[in-house]
Amino acid sequence: MRSKSLSVVLATAALLLFPWFFSEDAQAYKVKIDQVTIYEGETFMMDSLISDAEFGSLRLLTSDRTVSTPTKDGALLGLGIGECVITVSDRKGTRDEINVKVVSKEDVHMVALTLDDGPGSHAMELMDFFDSRNVKVTFFLIGCDVSNYPESVKRMVDDGHEIGNHSMNHKQLTAIKKSKALKEIEKGAKAIKKVAGVSPTVFRPPYGDSTEAQRIAAGVPTVLWNIDTLDWKYKDADRVANEIINGASDGNIILVHEIYKTTVEGVKTAVDKLVAKGVRFVTSTTLLTRDGSEVSDLIGQRLFSKKARKK
Ligand SMILES: [Zn+2]
Repeated sequence: MRSKSLSVVLATAALLLFPWFFSEDAQAYKVKIDQVTIYEGETFMMDSLISDAEFGSLRLLTSDRTVSTPTKDGALLGLGIGECVITVSDRKGTRDEINVKVVSKEDVHMVALTLDDGPGSHAMELMDFFDSRNVKVTFFLIGCDVSNYPESVKRMVDDGHEIGNHSMNHKQLTAIKKSKALKEIEKGAKAIKKVAGVSPTVFRPPYGDSTEAQRIAAGVPTVLWNIDTLDWKYKDADRVANEIINGASDGNIILVHEIYKTTVEGVKTAVDKLVAKGVRFVTSTTLLTRDGSEVSDLIGQRLFSKKARKK
């Protein structure tokens, strides 16, 4: 009798202390990336590190609560500069470790990923992914295609991505009549605004070719690129990923095309690896103005990269 009541007491105590251990619906999870760099004062969502996780059912413990502490809903708080280990475990007794490095905000490593020639059929899939990774990008849209994917274009704006004018019909602007080229720029911007509800805030001429007059007529900064992945040429997801990873130095503007399935896969692989390393994907305008530049001063120039960090 006595031992029975003791075991009831012990079981009850265990249930109260470790409810996650006894719960029926044990949840599988997978640590995809076991290291992450976050910024002091930041809240970083762990979705990009752990897949298939229901965070409420995981046990998350930190080795140093002055550096970073996980929350129940799967966020990491960057509390102080340093390093710590987050131990992840579930009801099945599976355990993993994630190494967390918290660095100063002044060390933010920024990259602008730019996706040309959309909108296309992969835009929604990409945005679901970007949303879960807190990644912002720039979509350079072709005016004549925006009405085919109105929901995608509206979501680009709602999700905080930047939309750029990639002309109306993707013609090489330096190879057609001057008046026609200006029309291509103007019509592209109008078509995008009609669907997006806002005007494009950057311009990218097809093939990168433009005259100064065209760049000024665009009325917004002309953003080119300094890393060309050539994704359209070889259509290989692993190579796209490598080109992005190798080209992701601070301040770089990376060019891919959102219309290829292989590019979508390559972008996902590369973004996950780079986010874990602390790389921040930001819009072209965020990158180009981080040194304090005014947008109005950037109009007319050919902009490739902005390496200077804001002091
Ligand atoms: Zn293009």
